[in-house]
Amino acid sequence: MINEYSEKRGIPKPGKKGRKRELIYSIQKHSATHLHYDLRLQKGRVLKSWAIPKEPPVKLGEKRLAVEVEDHPLSYAFWHGIIPKGSYGAGKVEVWDRGTYEPIEQGKDKWVIKINGKKLKGEYVLVRTKLNNSKKNWLFFKR
Ligand code: MN
Repeated sequence: MINEYSEKRGIPKPGKKGRKRELIYSIQKHSATHLHYDLRLQKGRVLKSWAIPKEPPVKLGEKRLAVEVEDHPLSYAFWHGIIPKGSYGAGKVEVWDRGTYEPIEQGKDKWVIKINGKKLKGEYVLVRTKLNNSKKNWLFFKR
């Protein structure tokens, strides 16, 4: 009965074989003190987040620094508007890209994901780097 109910409501049943895991993906263009792009990827009930100081990589061969920042609530993924002066991150936030992603590999130091966005499409890698001795620095590129 529970299964029937879930089916009718369109709630995905966990562990069902063959079902693609489609999770929230978005990138917000954030015109704060320094223009950057915030990559958001759903992991469970939060958005894992990285700030990318340059335009995100749309082509093979483009590598970008992605600085891990604090998790955000899922409801923030497609938010756009103005963060008021005096508040943290003050400036304009626009949705630069949106869609879903499928995890291929999600380790502590390396993620491989398939992005289904409007601008970013295909397989992408996020890999932690020791650049500048910060554990928060990752590289983000298409493969
Ligand atoms: Mn930001």
